[in-house]
Amino acid sequence: MSNAQKLIDFIKKSPTGFHAIDTIVRELEGFEPLQESENWRLQPGGKYYVTRNRSSIIAFTLPKAPFKAFQLIASHSDSPTFKIKENAEIAKGKYVQLDTERYGGMIMSSWFDRPLSVAGRVLARTEKGIKTILVDLDKDLLIIPNVAIHMNREINNGYKYNAAVDTFPLWGSDETKDTFKAEVAKAAGVAPEDILGADLFLYNRMEGRVWGVKDEYVSAPRLDDIECAFASVEALKAAGDSHHANVCCVFDNEEVGSTTKQGADSSFLYDVLRRILLSLGRGEEDYYKALAASFMLSADNAHAVHPNHPEYSDPVNQTQMNGGIVVKFNANQKYTTDGVSEAVFHQICQKANVPVQHYANRSDLPGGGTLGNISGSHVSINTLDIGLAQLAMHSCYETAGTKDIDYMIDGMKAFYETDIECAADGEYKL
Ligand code: ZN
Repeated sequence: MSNAQKLIDFIKKSPTGFHAIDTIVRELEGFEPLQESENWRLQPGGKYYVTRNRSSIIAFTLPKAPFKAFQLIASHSDSPTFKIKENAEIAKGKYVQLDTERYGGMIMSSWFDRPLSVAGRVLARTEKGIKTILVDLDKDLLIIPNVAIHMNREINNGYKYNAAVDTFPLWGSDETKDTFKAEVAKAAGVAPEDILGADLFLYNRMEGRVWGVKDEYVSAPRLDDIECAFASVEALKAAGDSHHANVCCVFDNEEVGSTTKQGADSSFLYDVLRRILLSLGRGEEDYYKALAASFMLSADNAHAVHPNHPEYSDPVNQTQMNGGIVVKFNANQKYTTDGVSEAVFHQICQKANVPVQHYANRSDLPGGGTLGNISGSHVSINTLDIGLAQLAMHSCYETAGTKDIDYMIDGMKAFYETDIECAADGEYKL
């Protein structure tokens, strides 16, 4: 199976961030699960993972000999969507709709006139307490209908959507009143009254597909940033022996600023890296030495030149789908890449025969932020921002290049297999 097809399958199994982490856990065959609330007894040569909130994960492999550095790749599990509110149903005339609010900065128009469903997690009462159950209603259940052009002649003249008016999805006729919770409970396999809490989201039912005369494109929901998360997990599994510890992080909540207990702006990574060293009997100073010698790839998708609007791209620092791994630059350091990290990564990719291209925002456009600089405020290490070129970022159906998935897996694998030795501040051997 091609990596593009594997990615499509991965996304199908991952309608929400909770499901994405669950899918990753299933992919990590031979990795031992750790709980943050228990003692860790790590062994050199071991492979482990730990989750936080079931929506962020850090997986790592340890070399057999004592190691001096971590080499990390970070991406995110969440995507812009609509979250369903606690009192979910709105009964209005002959209709029942769901009450939703925006999660992240989506392209709202992309969510109209297509089958949607509901997925997420519920917290259900058990005899002993409460348990988490992932749910996916896995059926075409909802549509956000456009207003007919005869009723809104302005729709093609730059219409401003209102999330409290335009985007409530239709759940059914008035006969479906009071069925939402029962349907969620049925999917969870529990009684409706046993559901004590929930985090439920809409998702696009349109499955991913490879398309184009030469099969050059892949379109799917949530390519930003499941594409990079998928590639990093594939690379971690495939990477051979090294003299450093390899770490693969997939954080939740990047789309809403990362400031949650499990986001990149939390103590999660700091805690895990420290605990790895402490569990191996290493001291406090070893932690600081390791951070100084460590290196991170912050992997989040980038913008391809738009076919109808090439003017939004920089004249020369612009990127194409199927053109290879994108290295992102920003003078104001919204992207962490600098001369040092660019040089190190460039050399790794050159040796591995992986094409690299360079991205910067057009100089009068602010662009978006990502994980690298946020994570760096807790665990400050040399970092590089990378991604893959895609179209329609934050649409509920995005488009990328099929070859790029192979390039990203190869580049990340080469990164994990290269021992980047920090000889002095700004000096590297690799
Ligand atoms: Zn992203």
